[in-house]
Amino acid sequence: MRYQSAQSAWMIRARAALPGGVSSPVRAFAGVGGTPRVIVRARGARVEDLDGNRLIDYIGGWGASIHGHAAPALVAAAQRAAKRGLTFGTAARDDVRLAEAIKERVPGVERVRFTNSGTEAVMTAIRIARAATGRDAIVKFDGGYHGHADGVLVRAGSGGATLGVPDSSGVPGDVAARTLVAPYNDAAALARTLATAPSPVAAVVIEPIAGNMGVVPPKAGYLAEVARITRAHGALLIFDEVMSGFRVARGGAQDRCGVTADLITLGKIIGGGLPIGAVAGPARWLDLLAPLGPVYQGGTFAGNPVVMATGLAALARLRPATYRSLERAGARLEAGLRDALATHAIPGCVQRVGSMLTLFFGIDRAESMEDVRRADAARFGRFFHAMLERGVHLPPSAYEAWFLSTAHTRSVIDRTIEAATESIATLR
Ligand SMILES: *Cc1c(COP(=O)(O)O)cnc(C)c1O
Repeated sequence: MRYQSAQSAWMIRARAALPGGVSSPVRAFAGVGGTPRVIVRARGARVEDLDGNRLIDYIGGWGASIHGHAAPALVAAAQRAAKRGLTFGTAARDDVRLAEAIKERVPGVERVRFTNSGTEAVMTAIRIARAATGRDAIVKFDGGYHGHADGVLVRAGSGGATLGVPDSSGVPGDVAARTLVAPYNDAAALARTLATAPSPVAAVVIEPIAGNMGVVPPKAGYLAEVARITRAHGALLIFDEVMSGFRVARGGAQDRCGVTADLITLGKIIGGGLPIGAVAGPARWLDLLAPLGPVYQGGTFAGNPVVMATGLAALARLRPATYRSLERAGARLEAGLRDALATHAIPGCVQRVGSMLTLFFGIDRAESMEDVRRADAARFGRFFHAMLERGVHLPPSAYEAWFLSTAHTRSVIDRTIEAATESIATLR
């Protein structure tokens, strides 16, 4: 019986040791109810829980595992690097090589500074922008998630949206006051926000393809307008590509959408599944960082040799053909989910960019967080559990992207569509 399962017992132990039994809030299933599956191993498109259930996985390490879980070439690279030393804390070679690999692929990048998380990358990008402009305020977008630093935990998506925490407690009011919020996909509103800002704006920070309020693609021409308006105000444009980088195209969202930012942040995929972040851009801005310039930033583990080697193996395996096959898999899943909604006359929509997608119930389209708030999260919760019973592990929130990997073969997708069609039938 489920309530006597090994993982239910484990979660009791977990809650006595970790707040909520987890190391990051969305994992606790607060957004969908019930008890999280405790994952013990993962390979390819599947994860295995403590009770021995093998589940098709769409969390994909929150997008990091684009080659599937435990991809043999990445594991081998990590093992080889580990034998040479787990950490050096010195000048080394693989951080240079990974920076070169990023420069080669991503438009506008001359320099890269590695961090241990996407959160730190965004903190550093904002600090550079403030130093470059001599201004303090920043603009972000409603539903945009940029990690958990104080200044960006204002109307943030992801866990904040799931848990209904628009603004975190513990963030000083004067820090939050320097963050202005505009609606996504509305260029005129951004122009108004910049024009009426109480103090000049250093940077506009945006997920070019929003993924942390669920997938919300930019409207045609929107990002070019954002770039134009931002620069007209003398602010720097920061594309937070921690999720979209190497996910939506070989050169990320800049490459896919044809708009180049002043600074970009990366993470997730570039570590091949190990902890990483990076801020990247032209030498003009990146060389403001210490030791060359006045902007301090550092890290004991930054550029860790095991992470760098694994990231190099991950990027080496992302070829133009990889994106074509991810696009085909994504399109197949999208079509199957749409058919399932139509067959059972359940209102909803599927929004997708390449290999990231979200199924929203109760709305026919979402262009902004305001639209997303109207989606039926309770119905998503029922769908989520129906899928889990059928062996499909979705992100435990109505406001997250599902991630495909190269291990999500046609048969894995078809099995998912079958489960979704049955699950949607139970929602009537
Ligand atoms: C995941 C994510 C972050 C935060 O990265 P962490 O490694 O979790 O700190 C920041 N921005 C975006 C767009 C993300 O998707």
